[in-house]
Amino acid sequence: MADILYIVIPCYKEEEVLPETARRLGEKLDQLQRAGRISPESRVLFVNDGSTDRTWSIIQKLHTADKRFSGVDLSRNRGHQNALLAGLMTAKDRCDMAISMDADLQDDIGAVDAMVEQYYAGCDIVYGVRSSRKKDTFFKRFTAEGFYRLMNFLGAETVFNHADYRLMSRRALEGLAQFKEVNLFLRGIVPMIGYPTGTVEYERGERFAGESKYPLKKMLSFAMEGITSLSTKPIRYITLLGFLVFLVSLVMLVYSIVRWAHGDTVIGWASVICSVWAIGGLILLALGVIGEYIGKIYLETKGRLRYLFNEMLDEHEGR
Ligand code: UDP
Ligand code: MG
Repeated sequence: MADILYIVIPCYKEEEVLPETARRLGEKLDQLQRAGRISPESRVLFVNDGSTDRTWSIIQKLHTADKRFSGVDLSRNRGHQNALLAGLMTAKDRCDMAISMDADLQDDIGAVDAMVEQYYAGCDIVYGVRSSRKKDTFFKRFTAEGFYRLMNFLGAETVFNHADYRLMSRRALEGLAQFKEVNLFLRGIVPMIGYPTGTVEYERGERFAGESKYPLKKMLSFAMEGITSLSTKPIRYITLLGFLVFLVSLVMLVYSIVRWAHGDTVIGWASVICSVWAIGGLILLALGVIGEYIGKIYLETKGRLRYLFNEMLDEHEGR
């Protein structure tokens, strides 16, 4: 018996694309099922993220016409990441593997076959990675690639050019469920789960209808969210800056003593200038140190997983 696949699609005001998306995904399920790669119990799970248009009524109609289309309706708009998590957690108890993708099918659904193959080959997580961004506008490509670089620099390790198009096995989803953090940045969390992983390259297409729900403003807040929810490295840079400023103050000290010795300074200049630099540096340093502790508290409150078992060899039942 083949395994059950759930395709999870977050939808926010996607009335223009949904009917076509559903048609193509239905075909994909048919094809995989005929090839015996997935169980007939497989589903497409739409998550309506509090859309104000007809998105939910379209999902209801799809469900009535074909039970392979299921849906959940969130009480209000919670954002892409939360909608996606809601879908994955719903799929977790019903499927053996779940693939997440966007409603606009910018992620080539042709890559689904390769993902499923890698799943059967033993991968628990298969990342969809864009082979090129030729079809994105220059602005989108530039900002998005800059974003990945900045993220890595600031301590948020993510898979380069991977968005949220990925396959996760049931046990990977169960691992994900144990991350209790509220500030959620899935593509930073998923690599923390571990387990055997694979990647599938695909070409990212254009949105075939409707417009992007990620304008620049949302992209910036998404970047900020990603960095601050994954790492406390920015705090460390404050400490570093404080240290540098303090070093400058030492240089200024030497410089002003030299100037003073030459006798070409106004009385009081040397002491004022040195203390301004020294105090500034010390304040920044102190802020950084306090920040280190706050960062620790922050990470503690997230209560992240410390380990997960891949396998266990022990027949003892325990008490
Ligand atoms: N989305 C969502 N909630 C939101 C914004 C977006 O569920 O608040 C969904 C949207 O319906 C789509 C996916 O997130 O399925 C990606 O959005 P979009 O295609 O607009 O982003 P882009 O591809 O332009 O980055
Ligand atoms: Mg899109």
